[in-house]
Amino acid sequence: MRHIGLSGGIGSGKSTVAKALEHMGYPVFYSDEEAKKLYATHPLLKNELIAIFGKDIYQKGVFQKHILATQLFENPALKEQIAALVHPLVRERFNEWAGQQTADLVFNEAAILFETGAYKQFAATVLVVCSLETRIQRVQKRDGLSREAVLQRIENQWSDAKKMNLTSYIITNDGQPLLQQIEEVISQLKTDLNA
Ligand code: ADP
Repeated sequence: MRHIGLSGGIGSGKSTVAKALEHMGYPVFYSDEEAKKLYATHPLLKNELIAIFGKDIYQKGVFQKHILATQLFENPALKEQIAALVHPLVRERFNEWAGQQTADLVFNEAAILFETGAYKQFAATVLVVCSLETRIQRVQKRDGLSREAVLQRIENQWSDAKKMNLTSYIITNDGQPLLQQIEEVISQLKTDLNA
């Protein structure tokens, strides 16, 4: 079994590709959802977050994501500190999950796979890319956000160009047939990785 990272900027269509992979029988682990679960439930992580942000980071036991977002925006250095706490836990969960799968390829979907350096831990990575204008329109429609709010989120992530330098497999989701590209990438991965 090979572990493959799957990423793409907000609105690129990485969740759409992940769902298609699942339909094709390839298990997908959703790192961002797992991180959210850990924030809500992991006792040691909760203690660490309370130590850093104060007890208001949980209200009636519910993790206050907006407080984290505001604090990270005001103090970007904290980002690395939080990542160092959360990522090893997500990785541990992924390894446990992967140990229960039987497919020859399993995928780990993560929004900031490249930004965190996590991409280095995979046998290969697949990046979904899409033109800026299409991404803006899709996210505005999906999340009901203003153009400026979408642009702010996009600017918080690395550019496609930077990530394209670090990945061997690219899916372009700008009107090109998606399923055909996914099938081609799977076939290429199996050949290249001998999976
Ligand atoms: P991401 O997970 O990268 O943020 P999504 O997969 O959620 O992106 O896609 C963003 C939005 O665009 C979603 O509402 C999705 O249904 C839509 N979308 C994705 N790919 C396509 C496509 N090829 N054609 C039309 N709509 C698409």
